[in-house]
Amino acid sequence: MSELEKTRGAGRLYLCATPIGNLEDITLRALRVLREVDWIAAEDTRHTLKLLRHYDIRTPVISYHEHNEAQRSQELIQRLLRGEEGALVSDAGTPVISDPGYPLVRLAIDSGIPVLPLPGPSALTAALIVSGLPPHPFYFGGFLPRREKERKAALQAVAGLPATLVFYEAPHRLRQTLNDAARVLPGRRAAVARELTKVHEEVVRGTIEELAAHFAAAAVRGECVLLIEGEKLGQEGMTREQAPSEAEIRKALEAEMRAGATRKEAIERVASLYGIGRNRVYRLSLEVGRRPT
Ligand code: SAM
Repeated sequence: MSELEKTRGAGRLYLCATPIGNLEDITLRALRVLREVDWIAAEDTRHTLKLLRHYDIRTPVISYHEHNEAQRSQELIQRLLRGEEGALVSDAGTPVISDPGYPLVRLAIDSGIPVLPLPGPSALTAALIVSGLPPHPFYFGGFLPRREKERKAALQAVAGLPATLVFYEAPHRLRQTLNDAARVLPGRRAAVARELTKVHEEVVRGTIEELAAHFAAAAVRGECVLLIEGEKLGQEGMTREQAPSEAEIRKALEAEMRAGATRKEAIERVASLYGIGRNRVYRLSLEVGRRPT
């Protein structure tokens, strides 16, 4: 079926954002739709029932989580095709974003079922706007890999992006992730947004190294978003096409060092020659001598 076709008589699937802490952060439209639909598919039914009870909403709740989403999606699609209206919610924030729902959305679209967003809170946008880092462009990486090697590789893979980097992180992994980020992206500005909209809400801003030291002091609690400044492309605001390639920078560094400059001097000269950030040149200088340019 073409994506423009709608199946006749099919009900609508609403993707409904819910609060990330403060229960007042829910839209009037979300409350009305949650009251009016035939069912609400929820990641954790007990968690969602607390929200529904708070607003005196008595709509039936169906469990829909990462372990049953393939099979449950099929069942929900059948109900929508019969004309029922449904809403998908997650435990907190916007469903589908690092939360269950994508298979259901895809199947609904493929089945000609209208899919409507009910916009509202997301830890991603809430953290981004209070971080003090440029809001766009930004890159959202969801959760970083749990294992150190893969986590560092994932950070390295986005190190060259001229975009604010945003990651969700579990509190018990934050310290290690900050240490890894300090290795891969040294000197960059960063922020940790913790427990947003809740009693112990805080945003800690500084270089990655400062944040690593700050969070090394005590066990980290609560939910966190980590934001890291993107690669700077130079004071003149060069685009990616205008900016020198990594190979060019390595070549320039080698030439400087062959001519007798120390690594530090070479970094300074190449950064100023191309008008690009010293961090980027420093990172590439570590590869000079280790691999062919
Ligand atoms: N879909 C959700 C959203 O749109 O915000 C995110 C779900 S994801 C499973 C949960 C992660 O979101 C947490 O580990 C944390 O990184 C982030 N998060 C959720 N609530 C938060 C809050 N109140 N303050 C900071 N981060 C939060």
